[in-house]
Amino acid sequence: MQGAYVDPAKCIGCTLCVSICPKVFEMQADGKSKAVNPNGEPTDAIEKAIASCPATAISLKDYLK
Ligand code: SF4
Repeated sequence: MQGAYVDPAKCIGCTLCVSICPKVFEMQADGKSKAVNPNGEPTDAIEKAIASCPATAISLKDYLK
């Protein structure tokens, strides 16, 4: 399956992706976002988060089931 992935080295912790896709992304104790439920929202919503991220930290990646 394809799902969202956040590169922690790039994320600046702006929380925008959590606002756009609250079922996919969750802020972590280190202040970075993580895709805790990578395909928890429709792909077009995830693509909106990808396009909105100011740090280009989000991508779609293939997850093994
Ligand atoms: S939108 Fe990008 S920079 Fe902002 S919290 Fe999400 S992954 Fe991090």
